[in-house]
Amino acid sequence: MTGDNDSESDDVSFSTKAIHGDTSETQNSERFGDLVPPLHHTSTFVRDEIEQPRDEYVYSRNKNPTCNELAQRIATLENANYGLTVSSGMAAIATVGWALLRPGDHVVTLDSLYGGTRNLFADIFAEFEIDIDYVDPTDTESILDAVREETALLWLETPTNPLMKLCDLSSIAKSTATSETVIAVDNTFMSPYFQRPMSFGVDVVVHSTTKYLNGHSDVTGGAIVTDDPDLHNRFHHVQKYGTGANQSPSDSYDILRGLKTLPQRMKEHERNAQELAEFLTDHKTVSDVHYPGLQSHPQHELAKSQMSGYGGMLSFELNGDRDDVKYVLEGLDHFALTASLGGVESLIAHAGTMTHAEVSKRVRTEMGISDTLIRISTGIEDSQDLLTDLKTQLDSL
Ligand code: PLP
Repeated sequence: MTGDNDSESDDVSFSTKAIHGDTSETQNSERFGDLVPPLHHTSTFVRDEIEQPRDEYVYSRNKNPTCNELAQRIATLENANYGLTVSSGMAAIATVGWALLRPGDHVVTLDSLYGGTRNLFADIFAEFEIDIDYVDPTDTESILDAVREETALLWLETPTNPLMKLCDLSSIAKSTATSETVIAVDNTFMSPYFQRPMSFGVDVVVHSTTKYLNGHSDVTGGAIVTDDPDLHNRFHHVQKYGTGANQSPSDSYDILRGLKTLPQRMKEHERNAQELAEFLTDHKTVSDVHYPGLQSHPQHELAKSQMSGYGGMLSFELNGDRDDVKYVLEGLDHFALTASLGGVESLIAHAGTMTHAEVSKRVRTEMGISDTLIRISTGIEDSQDLLTDLKTQLDSL
């Protein structure tokens, strides 16, 4: 399911915005006519006078034109007003947390989440007397029931990593619209090409730009977008002085380059993922496939309604044991055995020992992550080569 998925109110299509940014804004004022936004490789900016307007460039940890260009482009693609780039996806998530949470606050999040996010909440924020509830992402009623007056943050990830469970963004955002709780969504798996959570009324969207937005597995980065100027200023303040985790200008430059082909890459990622998911569904060594593009996915209808495609991430349960997982994963030719995702290369990972290795076995079990769960991030290679590779390994089990 692909297409140039713009809301009716947009008069410029997503692919055009991915190349040019928001052309209605005079973003070119900082440039000298370069077609490509230049790389401002500097730690500091020289001034003529000791007094300087606060919005001018002073120091690259605070603000840098290349990072700013990237932040604005990501905000444009997410249909948001404000963007901030940081050094990684975890830096983005931590920045939101440090900006919003104080001792005594309450957080509602999901019992199925990227392992690093779970560790941040459970091992770090919990030590600051922040009370955290982990709720089933698919159970909207339980999510809403868990939100109470002192809930400062509702942290969602949809689809979740690695089980591809969905949260109903529209119902959750509508039902919490009048509360003070900030709703933040990790949109890393879908990218704004397939899902724009701001359009459902959430307050904040976060990305690991390490993944699809950059798309070439060669930098780490993170981004935070919002429509709320106060929230944006709080995030920027924490980034400047709380974490100091600014995005490097050269990494921003690389991500800006990657962003231009996001639509084309996402379509290919999705095409390959759909083919692999269908193949795996029919294979005798596989007991379950988690991919929202399959009609058998329990939330396929919700996926259709809140995403304009199903993305390039899937996971499956191998019928067998840890040795079988090891055999399959270590013998593939066209899938790199690595924990990241969202690059042009197909990547494969064992959740238990790789993506969720630092989550305790008990928590992994609670999350529904078995020892035979395998996650794939499809690249943009030829699908036949990927299918043949996977089939050869699975057939020989
Ligand atoms: N969010 C999700 C859904 C992820 O999968 C990851 C990393 O895999 C992150 C956030 C963290 O991103 P980073 O590795 O850039 O810190």
